[in-house]
Amino acid sequence: MDAIEITGIKSPAEKPMPVIMSIAKCKCPRCRQGNMFVDKNPYHLRHTMKMHETCPVCGQAFNLEVGFYYGAGYSSYAISIAVSVLSFVLYALTIGLSINDYRFLYWIFINAILLVVLQPVIMRIARSMWLTLFVSYDSNWRSNKADAPERTNETQKNNW
Ligand SMILES: [Zn+2]
Repeated sequence: MDAIEITGIKSPAEKPMPVIMSIAKCKCPRCRQGNMFVDKNPYHLRHTMKMHETCPVCGQAFNLEVGFYYGAGYSSYAISIAVSVLSFVLYALTIGLSINDYRFLYWIFINAILLVVLQPVIMRIARSMWLTLFVSYDSNWRSNKADAPERTNETQKNNW
């Protein structure tokens, strides 16, 4: 690993995971290695949203400013729409739709349950997407120091 740092040549092992995988696995967007969330299982509901303050691998701050993750509502909405479209297409192709029976209403009901059940995962991926929009991958994360966020406030941390 030391040789890699000195020469600056990346070995295949140093290739970062693709951004889509990094978002899905809730990895730090700067090094794509550290976990954003303390508990790996999103269905441990007491800890679903418990995040590391900084990346345990590269030190990137996860709380960029006060109320940063309010914005994850936008990505959460986008993911929920995508899940709904997917479930609608799958339902239409397998069970089918008609205006002469209640199949469309059944889909609405099934989709609502699906969204509730997936909520812990959707909330996490929404935060991961949101952070990835603001923090880009740094191939020299081992040697570069992570930026310290300027607009944080100790008393307002996790205040949402
Ligand atoms: Zn990191």
